[in-house]
Amino acid sequence: DVRHGPILYLEDVTVSFDGFKAINNLNLTIDDGELRCIIGPNGAGKTTMMDIITGKTRPDVGSVWFGSRHNLLTMNEPDIASLGIGRKFQKPTVFEALTVFENLELAMAADKRVLPTLTARMNGETKDRIEEVLGTIGLTELRNREAGILSHGQKQWLEIGMLLMQKPRLLLVDEPVAGMTEQEMERTAELLTSLAGKQSVVVVEHDMGFVRSIARTVTVLHQGSVLAEGSMDQVSNDPKVIEVYLGE
Ligand code: ADP
Repeated sequence: DVRHGPILYLEDVTVSFDGFKAINNLNLTIDDGELRCIIGPNGAGKTTMMDIITGKTRPDVGSVWFGSRHNLLTMNEPDIASLGIGRKFQKPTVFEALTVFENLELAMAADKRVLPTLTARMNGETKDRIEEVLGTIGLTELRNREAGILSHGQKQWLEIGMLLMQKPRLLLVDEPVAGMTEQEMERTAELLTSLAGKQSVVVVEHDMGFVRSIARTVTVLHQGSVLAEGSMDQVSNDPKVIEVYLGE
């Protein structure tokens, strides 16, 4: 395990929607290079937590730091993204009419609102990076195929690849294996495991078998705070966790 101290801190964070505390005094620390799974019943605050990290939702109180230098609460969404925080939503959003290669090329633009000229001559560094990412996501053979013909799983990997083009330091991944076949799930476990170490990865996931297959540390959210944290065995034997899941 390659770890170099914390990359992300949430400290005493609370967020209310019309007086309802979706996040309630949440404390979370993610280490550099760590692969962390976040689980918890529906409404536990998982999505809101991701929204806070990316700057989409502002806490009422608390602090959110990226490394020791960046106070995320003073930054807007694009600036937070440009620190190297990438987010993958549940549904893949690749450009179906473009090839796999072109999707990765397009992702080199830090800001998706500014489309680069696809015909622009690529520098060698970009080309090398695309080759490297194609290998990482296992789509080298399909590089010249339109993204629209990919399977659901392959589209998910391509979108992870698009995030990787920016060499992120922290990847936030929302339910990566929803709708995947067993085989695609195994491949996704390998992919996410191989990414950790090079960057930190935070995965929100409902599939407990998948969580068990990838996670070193699992954080259980409930009613907007951390109910339990530890290995999958530790949290799944925790009476508080069992009660919450049986009560769902
Ligand atoms: P999870 O992702 O764990 O299912 P969420 O973060 O989506 O949980 O939601 C946590 C709680 O906050 C839920 O009760 C949800 O209804 C509420 N909530 C989330 N976003 C909003 C919003 N924009 N307005 C009002 N309530 C919200």
